[in-house]
Amino acid sequence: MDFELNENQTMFRNMVRDFAKLHIAPIAHEMDVKGDMPDTLIAALREAGFFGLTFPEAYGGMGVDTITYGVVVEELSKASAGVSVMLTVHNSVGSYPVALFGTEEVKSRFLPRMAAGEIAAFCVTEPGAGSDASSLAATARRDGDHYVLNGSKSFVTNGARAAFYVILAREPGTHGNKGTHAFLVERDTPGLSVAKKEDKMGLRASDTAVIALDEVRVPVGHRLGEEGAGLRVALTALDGGRIGIAFQALGIGQACLDASIAYAKVREQFGQSLASQPVIAHKIADMGTELEAARLLAYHAAWLKDQGRPHTREAAMAKLMASEAAGHAADAAVQIHGGYGFCKEYDVERYYRDVRVTRIYEGTSEIQRLVIARKLLAGQ
Ligand SMILES: Cc1cc2nc3c(=O)[nH]c(=O)nc-3n(C[C@H](O)[C@H](O)[C@H](O)COP(=O)(O)OP(=O)(O)OC[C@H]3O[C@@H](n4cnc5c(N)ncnc54)[C@H](O)[C@@H]3O)c2cc1C
Repeated sequence: MDFELNENQTMFRNMVRDFAKLHIAPIAHEMDVKGDMPDTLIAALREAGFFGLTFPEAYGGMGVDTITYGVVVEELSKASAGVSVMLTVHNSVGSYPVALFGTEEVKSRFLPRMAAGEIAAFCVTEPGAGSDASSLAATARRDGDHYVLNGSKSFVTNGARAAFYVILAREPGTHGNKGTHAFLVERDTPGLSVAKKEDKMGLRASDTAVIALDEVRVPVGHRLGEEGAGLRVALTALDGGRIGIAFQALGIGQACLDASIAYAKVREQFGQSLASQPVIAHKIADMGTELEAARLLAYHAAWLKDQGRPHTREAAMAKLMASEAAGHAADAAVQIHGGYGFCKEYDVERYYRDVRVTRIYEGTSEIQRLVIARKLLAGQ
């Protein structure tokens, strides 16, 4: 058992740390206030290859392993979780279904464009279908060599900026797990539009939109996987996506810990630093311990994925544990900062808002527990 990052992984971590310090951290507060991300930052991310991290080298990507990817996501999330979610959705659920289930023609046409920085999004959630994706209502009607898509997709990360959407819809008249298809749809396809941008509590640098589908014609060749395999495509992508969200939560949690240690050392009350007061020191110990436990789960899930082994249970465990540990860390960080932690001048105020959604998206904590319990009860 080896707990060290290898030379390549360490090099990536240092490179991303430097990039984040130079390009992201200085504008993280401004992006949060404005609820936007400047095009110059997206251009710099493109230039540095962040949009092709997980893509196979044959399609213009860097083909990094999942542990390296996790290290990158954690580093980015320390600087801005809004930036990291844009990249994690693009590098996992937005593109992985294409790499895994697309035809060779679709892969060679679209993956190089995505790897070069044309942004990808993932559209499963609907107004009436959240945790229960099998209740989705968007339809895909077959019409000759096309499908015609109708419906509405909610909470689409990268919705307003994306060039490509992985969209789940069902054969009219089907119900539940049956009859769902996944498609790759290009942004300029007539009938696809951004209906609304959400005004969110956190991750404000990232755009989250409602996507309307009105008679959107998609070539049959752009279906990802077999007929009726839509939910399987989505759930397979989510196993990998959840590992990314675990690392995102770890990054935010680690930023909370780092800020708390720095603050506790300099802030004095009752004639001594906060750090030397046992109650505060214990909070710091708990933050560090929970985050480290979650980090080991996340590395294990990433390692399993890299070995090509089943990782549904481990990805759910990592996401559950990391998002809850990071939530505790954010709460403790605000507490350690006292009244200043409640003010926007201090980064922990943003971390506290940003971390909340890691317990909600790509499956809520309740759904992760259902997934884990199902696996354990089946003896897996
Ligand atoms: C910022 C943001 C970005 C997102 N990005 C994307 C994206 O890119 N693509 C996409 O498709 N979706 C995206 N989502 C949607 C996200 O995945 C859903 O919000 C999430 O799956 C929960 O669905 P819901 O909001 O409809 O809540 P609901 O499913 O209505 O759940 C409400 C509450 O009930 C609980 N609950 C539901 N069923 C059960 C059960 N059986 N047992 C116990 N508790 C249960 C849930 O855990 C939750 O606490 C995003 C959401 C947000 C907020």
